[in-house]
Amino acid sequence: MDVYGLIGNPVTHSRSPPMHEAAYDARDITARYVTFEPSEDAVEAAIDGAAALDINGLNVTIPFKQAVMEYIDPDPLAGRIGAVNMIDFETEPPTGYNTDIDGVQRAFDHHDIELNGTEAVVIGAGGVARAAAFALSDAGASIHIANRTEPKATQLAQAVPGATAGGLQTRDRVESADILINATSVGMESTETPVPRTHLHANLVVFDAVYTPVETTLLQQAEAAGATTIDGAWMLLFQGVTAFEHWTGEAAPVEVMNAALRETL
Ligand code: NAP
Repeated sequence: MDVYGLIGNPVTHSRSPPMHEAAYDARDITARYVTFEPSEDAVEAAIDGAAALDINGLNVTIPFKQAVMEYIDPDPLAGRIGAVNMIDFETEPPTGYNTDIDGVQRAFDHHDIELNGTEAVVIGAGGVARAAAFALSDAGASIHIANRTEPKATQLAQAVPGATAGGLQTRDRVESADILINATSVGMESTETPVPRTHLHANLVVFDAVYTPVETTLLQQAEAAGATTIDGAWMLLFQGVTAFEHWTGEAAPVEVMNAALRETL
């Protein structure tokens, strides 16, 4: 039996196990997807242990996406982003990848949104903002990063080609932008929104990384303004799809994974 899994802390509410196990069933792969919650000082032991136990692959989530990089070999893209969320143990040392980028790009592709030549505003400067800013920049969009803690936005913008940065008040650039990405936790389990509804308009594509609830207040307001919306479950789905394809070498049963994921939300 192949064994895949997720390390993070906490991971008890992860949606990944049912999504991946539905894919194994659909492809007749004998495998399990397990969650592991090591303490923050046990990351090296966890990676070494996983390699010693012949675990095939691990996803990585908060708070270990940076910490694991010391114990594996990041591929060039993960190295450039500075975060790993997927490890392949078939190599020695294990190789680390960032499939959050694929998650963002494939979410836009799935909705037939052309990113090349667009102007995008990313709200937030944490892990998701980082993946989103690189994904959109690599696809040819110009990026503005607006974050509550402005120095973090400035620091991220320095790493992303051509990106600009500002404090949260610069979110008013959404009024003339093509794409809005909410990469903050604002709206998670709440009706708060990261951007006033007056900034939203019909020519906007709004992607909300938050997926609890799937239809956030931001997405409801965007829809009411006539904007195109993409919910956070699409990113979660496609980072998992990319990991499945990489680990198993098989085409992912995307519809099956999507249905299994959305059933958990
Ligand atoms: P993170 O690294 O902790 O970054 C959080 C960001 O949110 C920071 O930029 C922070 O600003 C900002 N923020 C938090 N509270 C705020 C507030 N009240 N007002 C304005 N900005 C605020 O988190 P992350 O890993 O990027 O995740 C962000 C969210 O994305 C999560 O909460 C989760 O809902 C979602 N997520 C989605 C996926 C997916 O696949 N769809 C994957 C991972 C996470 P400061 O810098 O000022 O603190």
